[in-house]
Amino acid sequence: MRNISKILAMILLSMVFLILTACSGRDETRTAAPANDNNARTEAKTIKIAYLPITHALPLYIENELANDNSNSFRLELIKFGSWPELAEALNAGRVDGASMLIELAVKAKENGIDLKVVALGHRDGNVVVVSKDINTVQDLKGKNFAILSRLSTHNILLHIMLKDNGLSYSDVNIIELPPPEMPAALSEGRISGYCVAEPFGAQSVAAGKGKTLFESHELWEGSLCCGLVLRNDFIKNNPEVVEEFVREYVNAGLKAEQKDEDVKNITAKYLKAEPGVLDLSLEWISYKNLRLEEKEYNELVGYMKETGLSENPPGYGDFADNSFIDKVK
Ligand code: ZN
Repeated sequence: MRNISKILAMILLSMVFLILTACSGRDETRTAAPANDNNARTEAKTIKIAYLPITHALPLYIENELANDNSNSFRLELIKFGSWPELAEALNAGRVDGASMLIELAVKAKENGIDLKVVALGHRDGNVVVVSKDINTVQDLKGKNFAILSRLSTHNILLHIMLKDNGLSYSDVNIIELPPPEMPAALSEGRISGYCVAEPFGAQSVAAGKGKTLFESHELWEGSLCCGLVLRNDFIKNNPEVVEEFVREYVNAGLKAEQKDEDVKNITAKYLKAEPGVLDLSLEWISYKNLRLEEKEYNELVGYMKETGLSENPPGYGDFADNSFIDKVK
């Protein structure tokens, strides 16, 4: 009887040992799977990217439609936000891995200690100064209401450049902050005489014949910066191979977006509401080529941010931009 108990105890012990070994073996496989392992490749890493439904984020829409297949080491998850502050807060808190966001917001976040990097631009140019029909020159805007979404934006910088180039300053116009969807109505009702904001809200007024273009952004600031593709630095450090592939597909999506053909317009329609005529006009003003942030233009950007009081101590170019991934794209 005692022997039987002994044997049973030994069997039990062996089973426990076997179970423990099996468990630890499984864990090791899960954590130590190399990136080039066939099993690991099927478990694509999810990249959560925040965006606002504007034409400026178009390469992300294209990438989401074209690059999410099994051959990639990542799966893109686009998360839509209703405003820049909400988007920035999610990025700062690490609820998303990255975002297509106003580059001024990214500079400010970095200045405030959020560890992020711009790995590519969202686009170049693509903003316009829209005015009512009675405005023919910048001087005509003197004493009039002019709307922007927020001071911390390219639109504010474009307004600053336009006024400065024409011998005016902020104090010569009444700057009011409005949500973009309200701007076309405010212009047509005469509550404002002009505005500058992300697209397609400028094109809405022009296409409807309620307003006209006083300047396209490139006329005020050649190759102007606006949105950047930003990633949290911890995500980059932990997933360099995934980021390399993600950025390569992003740049390719930008080249596809630049074709501005029916295919591109059909994809865009899934992500933002715009009448075909409005989208066509909006796409005329924007460029998705050459999405590498250059040092000279970054210095120009932070120069404007200092001039307009948006930044006191902006991060250095090398600290802000990480071009190591875009430079590998052939
Ligand atoms: Zn933009």
